[in-house]
Amino acid sequence: MVKLPNKQLSRCNLCGGGKFKLVKSFLRDDQAKFKVYDCQQCGHVQLLPKPTAEDDKEFYDQNQQDKNRGKEIDYEKLAANQRFDTDRHVALIRKLFPRKVSVLDIGAGYGFFVAALHDAGFKRVKGIEISRERRTIAQAHTPAQILEHDVAAGAEIIGRYDVATLFHVLEHTTDPIAFLKQIKTLLKPKGTFICEVPNVSDQLLANSREYHDFYWIRAHLNYFSGQTLKRAFTAAGFKKIKLVYAQRYGLLNLSNWLLYGKPQIERPVFEINRDYAAVDDYYRELLERKGRSDALLAIAQA
Ligand SMILES: [Zn+2]
Repeated sequence: MVKLPNKQLSRCNLCGGGKFKLVKSFLRDDQAKFKVYDCQQCGHVQLLPKPTAEDDKEFYDQNQQDKNRGKEIDYEKLAANQRFDTDRHVALIRKLFPRKVSVLDIGAGYGFFVAALHDAGFKRVKGIEISRERRTIAQAHTPAQILEHDVAAGAEIIGRYDVATLFHVLEHTTDPIAFLKQIKTLLKPKGTFICEVPNVSDQLLANSREYHDFYWIRAHLNYFSGQTLKRAFTAAGFKKIKLVYAQRYGLLNLSNWLLYGKPQIERPVFEINRDYAAVDDYYRELLERKGRSDALLAIAQA
């Protein structure tokens, strides 16, 4: 067990505790200043010390430069890489709600989900996105509105919604409970909040050393399990919290890690040849049943 120096920047993001166990001594993207710890009070896994505003500025400026060095964004390619997730999220909304509901997607990115949901007949869907570049690209591809809006600004300008979605955003926030409280103000009374994050109980972390070396990154400040995600939701005042485990990557990805110890970054493959679909389905269901899938959703009421 370790007690970290600089008390202020080394408090647990969820419970404020100060005693930790080291989970990873290095990050994939070589940011030596930070390590990953597990809070001994509540079990929340997180990056510490907490990056300061200066750290963030430096990191994200550098990130932007790296991105700009490459070629222009290929919208179709990105959309294709994310199609599995986009379709899965649209299917979930279709299963849970009638088309007349209003939906706000927070951190809409390039707007793939918003565009697909609008195409599926949910005409009252909007997205909010802080990056101007992403917003502009997203807006060029869908009639649904993609707005500039800071969640902290509340509902005064953009109103309240029946449903709010937050896909792979919460793990990036410095104060997840405060962020969740702000989201709650954007929902109508008893509105539904759907949030997806990577699941730190991911089975593959236990099975592949290379995957474990690859997993921890500077941009992710929080690594949730079902238990800690539920804790954060409860602390933010959400009710009727339901956890749903979702396996995004299939058997091909598992094989790739076990055989070659490498990710599939350029062309991620989510689905196996149709002839083996039943085996792939079984693999996913097994991990989801055990709570050891690579992603995790919480569905809750405001
Ligand atoms: Zn804690």
